[in-house]
Parts: sequence; C-alpha cells; structure tokens
Amino acid sequence: MNGQILLLKYGAIDSLKSRTASVSITVTMNSQEESWKETKTFISGPGTLARVPSVLREHFPEVPVIVIADDNTWEAAGEKVDACLNAEGVATLEPLVFPGKPILHSDYEHVAKINKTLQGNDIIPVSVGSGTINDLVKRAAFESERRYLCVATAVSVDGYSSFGAAILRDGVKMTMDCPAPVAIVADTDVLKRAPYPMTAAGYADLASKITAGADWIVADFIGVDPIDTEAWKMVQKDLRLWLNSPAELKAGESEPFEKVFLGLTMSGLSMQYLRKSRPASGSEHLFSHIWEMENLEKNGEPVSHGFKVAIGTLMGTALAETIFAHDAADIDADEAVAKYPDWATREKQIRDRFGDTPISKSMTDECRAKHLAPTDLSIRIAFLKDNWDALRSKTLERLYPYAELCDRFKAADVPVRPEQINLTRERVCDTIVSAQMMRNRYTILDLAFELGWIEDCRNEILKSDLYLY
Ligand SMILES: [Zn+2]
Repeated sequence: MNGQILLLKYGAIDSLKSRTASVSITVTMNSQEESWKETKTFISGPGTLARVPSVLREHFPEVPVIVIADDNTWEAAGEKVDACLNAEGVATLEPLVFPGKPILHSDYEHVAKINKTLQGNDIIPVSVGSGTINDLVKRAAFESERRYLCVATAVSVDGYSSFGAAILRDGVKMTMDCPAPVAIVADTDVLKRAPYPMTAAGYADLASKITAGADWIVADFIGVDPIDTEAWKMVQKDLRLWLNSPAELKAGESEPFEKVFLGLTMSGLSMQYLRKSRPASGSEHLFSHIWEMENLEKNGEPVSHGFKVAIGTLMGTALAETIFAHDAADIDADEAVAKYPDWATREKQIRDRFGDTPISKSMTDECRAKHLAPTDLSIRIAFLKDNWDALRSKTLERLYPYAELCDRFKAADVPVRPEQINLTRERVCDTIVSAQMMRNRYTILDLAFELGWIEDCRNEILKSDLYLY
C-alpha cells in the first residue's frame, strides 16, 4: 500500500495482495464461492476521496445519492465527498448529518430515521464515518432494500467490510443481519488525520482476533463450531504480522498503520465470507457487549468499542491462562455435572443478574439454546479430560502470553487497566459470569462454565497480582 492506491475488484481477481515496504501479504479467496462477495470494490490510498463519484457511477448509474455523516465525520470527509459529487454532476439530496455531540450511539432509532429519508425513493446512501455511522447506514440500506457505498474516516473497527451491523435495540446489543457495502473508499490521508485514540482502538479490535481465534479453536475442538479454513486464513494467517509494531504505530509511522487497516479489512471480509462474526469475535467481544449495554462512559463520552474490546481481550487471555493452569487430573465429570444448574435454576440466575428486561429475555433464549442435558455434559467433560493437554497446547499457542499482550497494548497506548475506561477490577472480573450468558457462541467462557470453574476463575483472577494491572 505504501503510498500506492490499493484497488480491489473482487469480480475481476481472486487474490487480494498488498505490499508494504517490508512485507508482502497475500490472501487467496476461494474462487469457487462467488456469492459471498458483497463488496465489489475496495479502494484505499492517498487522495482516493476524489474517486467516490466514479465508484458510485460504476455501481449506481443515474441514481441520486445522499451523504450520511455526523458533525465530526462531515468535517473530516463528508463535506468534501458532497462537494466532489456535486462537481461531477451526481444528483445529491440534502445531506443527513447527525449531531456530533453527544457522541452518536448505534441506536436503532437512528436506523429508523435514515429509513424514513430513504422511503419511497431510490436514493443511494453514502455513509461517511467509522463504526457507528457505517453500522446505522448498513442496516438502514438493508431494510430499505438497497445497497450503499461506505467512505471510511478512521482505522478504528473492522466493521466497514463485515456482514452485519452492531445495533442497540430495546437496550440489547445485537449483530443485525445486513450485507456489507457494495463499495468501500478509504482515503489514507483522511484515516491518518483521525485522532490517534481511534487508531489505538483499531489496533485493539484487531488484537481481539487473537482471543477470537483461540475461542474458535476451543469450539472446533469439542465439535460445536468447526473452523472454516478459508475464513480462518483470512484473519489468522497474518494476524501477528499486522500486530507486530505497536510502538511504531503510536509513533505515527505509515507501515504499521497500513497493516492494521489491512488486518481490520480482512477481518471484516472474513465475516462477509462466512456471513457471521465468528472469525472475528469471541469471548472478548462478549465482555465489550455487556459494557456497551451498560452504556459505559468516561468523562461523559462513550468508551470506544476498541478500548472495551481491549480489556475483554486481556480478560479472555487471563481466563485461558487460569483454566489451563489446571491439569486433566483436576477435571471431575461428576463434580461438573453436580455444579451445572438445571434449566429452572439457570433461568433464575439470568433473571437475578439482568432483572425482567429485554436483555434478560435475549440471554435466556441464548442460554436455552446451549443448555446441556446432564448426560451430554458428562460426555463432553470426559472428552475434555481425555484430551486436555492437546486442547491446552492448541489454545495457548494461539494466544499471546498475558504479559506480552499487555506490553503490546501499552506500546500502542491501548488501555490495560480497568480504571482507564472507568471500570474496576471487581466489575471486570464479575463480567466473566454475565458475558458467558450473553450468546450461544462457544468460547472459553463456556468451557469454564461447563467445567464448573467459572466462579473460581473469576475469584482467582481478581486475587491475582498478574492481571489487569
Ligand atoms: Zn470489534
């Protein structure tokens, strides 16, 4: 990428290649599978904002467009995009610009507002922003039965190219189905001007694929969610390479910046390919979803997705190290079955934590779907006991050791202590129990729960002087 324009047209090539000054990264897509390619054009490089009109014309000839942004992203790129469109004679409607303060949440009410603008016409939306704006427009475009174009303004999340949008609806954070944008334009001049904490958040969101990968290994190992090798390669093959220069990223060097952006893009594409978030989201995202639903704020502003995920990634790693500090001899199937709640008790545990709320209802549904009968649990625990050493080495091999992950985060200026995002050690450790209830997606949290160790792990991590300092 280094100063060049990276242009990908999936219809024309099967190989995604990027060359930076010192590394060459190649990801080969499965050419047999055409249907997943929702994003047809991806353009990244300096000055690429000017290409928005031609990309639009290519995909949507003769259709009017509307720029959707918030005050901040309007200033960063929206105004320029709108001006370029006008200068090129593309019919545009009055832009829809959300207030920049307080910071926009990905609340469903904003999706409804965009839908209202799109109703009864064939306007194509152009989202100009990062995570929130893109998610809102992605879902609204889907509900209004049309595609859209995305202009990225920060390297802060992997959601630009992903299938699905993270939306808060009735107080519940959920990934709502919707296709990725048909085209993405990422002007690196714009991305680099974004405030550095957004880039640090992007680094953390990329680092979260380390724990997401470990969680998938566990789920694959016990046979509940087999690894898709194509999606796995897209994210995991070069992941450590993309993450290996946190200090240089903080210092503002171009190459690490471009690697993080490439990594986040590949992560989004892997979700697009599989049409679910499994390749890019594991236990660490469940922690962050809990804090998102609790409207975690610092100094009156929402804590960024990446920073919440950072603490979740540290916790996923701490939990794995705590679980795998045990030997197979510590696993006791009878004890695990005795500790495993029957369904009525489980429902009560969820209600006790979340009350009589839509969140509680959603969690009850998710937990019901993964609730095991005693015989099935017994079989699973016996399998774990017999194969413990293999699972341990496979899982720990994928993870950074906690201390190393922590050093990387510090070098990139990513939070490593709960207080940095207005949490406490007690609250973070207690989230282990809530996060396990969040979703029917097998992670290290479920492993701890099924072994009957989740409460002990929470207490051990809380007492330890290694973690979250
Ligand atoms: Zn994320």
